[in-house]
Amino acid sequence: MDSARQMVIAGISVEVLRKDIKNLHVGVYPPAGRVRVAAPLLLDDEAVRLAVISRLGWIRRQQAAFHQQERQSPREYVSGESHYFRGRRYRIEVVERRGPASIAFRNNTVLTMHAPPGADAERRAELLDLWYRNQLRAEIPGLLHKWLPKVGVLAPDVRIKKLKTLWGSCNPEAGRVWLNLELIKKPYSCLEFILVHELVHLIERHHNERFLAIMDRVMPSWRSYREDLNRAPLAHSEWDY
Ligand SMILES: [Zn+2]
Repeated sequence: MDSARQMVIAGISVEVLRKDIKNLHVGVYPPAGRVRVAAPLLLDDEAVRLAVISRLGWIRRQQAAFHQQERQSPREYVSGESHYFRGRRYRIEVVERRGPASIAFRNNTVLTMHAPPGADAERRAELLDLWYRNQLRAEIPGLLHKWLPKVGVLAPDVRIKKLKTLWGSCNPEAGRVWLNLELIKKPYSCLEFILVHELVHLIERHHNERFLAIMDRVMPSWRSYREDLNRAPLAHSEWDY
């Protein structure tokens, strides 16, 4: 049976949820940077306390990133605004034009959006999201061609989703992997890391020794890619206990 309660650890209020799981997970969630720990049923409070203390630096960085994100003004999708693609910053240039909407690189710092006259911020946001989705979808066949033989997985079903708290997710029974749409905004190595991480989960569900051994063999630099992602304000912890 699951039960949740609050603990104060190093001055931080932490929600501790006991579950029938093998590994301890720490998550920091937007918008306020709430900290939640999912702990195995048999792990005692002292072990939970130590696990949180050992991750304080990471927890504080995540919270700081959320606070900064909070202070950012909402996106308006107007000319001059910055948006990211594959880890690079682009300014968007909105050109109103009749006919089909489109987005294209003007050069390596500017993205031009051709939008129907009168398209509001919501419509322009949809256009950009759709473009991001198409860009990410176009990468998947090449990435699978590269990584499936290395990981040793056959033809998974890879889908794209907007996820609030995860970079990726998977369902081993269905052989299905979800990638967060946000990954197309990150450096390419981060996208590859999450895809490989989820592909490895199709073979090994838990973040155990076997999982780490496969990751180390297939993608020896994965820890540095994880660091890059952890600096970005989207919380998912992959800590093992
Ligand atoms: Zn995982």
